[in-house]
Amino acid sequence: MDVRGYAVMSEQAPLTPWAFTRRDLREDDVAIDIEFSGVCHSDIHTARSEWGPISFPCVPGHEIVGRVSAVGSAVSGFSVGQRVGVGVYVDSCRTCKNCLSGMSNYCEEGFTGTYNTPERSGEGITQGGYSTGIVVNEGYVVTVPEPLDPAGAAPLLCAGITLYSPLKEFGAGPGVKVGIVGLGGLGHMGVKYAVAMGAEVTVFSHSESKRDDALAMGAHHFVVTNDETVFQTHAKQFALIINTVSASIDLNLYLELLGLDGTLVMVGLAAEPYPIKPFSMAPQRRRIAGSTIGPVSELQEMLDFSAEHNIVSDVEVIDADYLNTSWDRVVESDVRYRFVIDVSTI
Ligand code: NAP
Ligand code: ZN
Repeated sequence: MDVRGYAVMSEQAPLTPWAFTRRDLREDDVAIDIEFSGVCHSDIHTARSEWGPISFPCVPGHEIVGRVSAVGSAVSGFSVGQRVGVGVYVDSCRTCKNCLSGMSNYCEEGFTGTYNTPERSGEGITQGGYSTGIVVNEGYVVTVPEPLDPAGAAPLLCAGITLYSPLKEFGAGPGVKVGIVGLGGLGHMGVKYAVAMGAEVTVFSHSESKRDDALAMGAHHFVVTNDETVFQTHAKQFALIINTVSASIDLNLYLELLGLDGTLVMVGLAAEPYPIKPFSMAPQRRRIAGSTIGPVSELQEMLDFSAEHNIVSDVEVIDADYLNTSWDRVVESDVRYRFVIDVSTI
């Protein structure tokens, strides 16, 4: 399949148009005409080699919504014309204990990322959703409910699941005090899901500018973190805090906000390490956990939950030629709250 995309062709280069070819349809593959593709901060960390060296050209994008254009002869779950989504990974080993128990996002061999990852078949490197089409094994494709706005649904495929999964796993529910640190693409989805789950939600943000938006999304409280005394005011009050910040921050301050057995979940993936003081953890038997996206089955559950609760991302739909500017704005925390490419403009 011949497609057009936007790629980073070399170290520190901007995104530029690039035409390339997708693999021929295998019997268990689904071909998708992409309609919308979200811009995740991970795309920027990756393309700018902040997480280590990468393969060029690199077409980023792992928040993909589109319509099925063709299916392989053995595909049973999808048909042509259906609206579908693809998230952060497109394959896994399928044999380790985590894959066999349905937790393929924690594949012990490492999942095959939607971009910048060697194909398990050995046929080249995966290329992502900043492109007009993609071919994916049906086991890694989900159905996007028709009532969901497709542009607003695209960010659910990464930002949505990355917050939905730990909120459920770590007990967000009626009356539970949940803190969301950073109101960006991930954080704003965390607010919406935590509110829908019945939690009492506080947003921690490094500027005053997003207060009205946070409250409009349903957050109950908004705390600006540029004054450290706020951490004393809210000490020991939270059961669960999810850190979505893309840069290194002082985690000790956030640990102090947790009460007995409280958990700080790390989903933000800053490139730098975080110094932790044992005295920030031991006194209230506090925990630090990590979480990465969610398995395919939970992706589908999250999309269905979103349709039921009328939840989509707040998006700024952009033309492809705005991509480089959008990346600069994401890095400056100037995104309200996810850029999504209208792929018809590629
Ligand atoms: P984003 O839209 O840029 O949001 C990050 C937010 O962090 C910003 O909006 C800002 O919120 C806050 N922030 C940024 N720089 C800061 C600084 N220097 N000090 C304090 N706060 C700062 O990014 P995203 O797409 O949501 O992604 C967030 C992080 O999660 C990235 O590191 C990304 O790679 C990672 N990620 C992880 C997973 C996973 O599975 N674990 C999945 C997707 C993404 P305020 O303005 O409100 O402070
Ligand atoms: Zn992502």
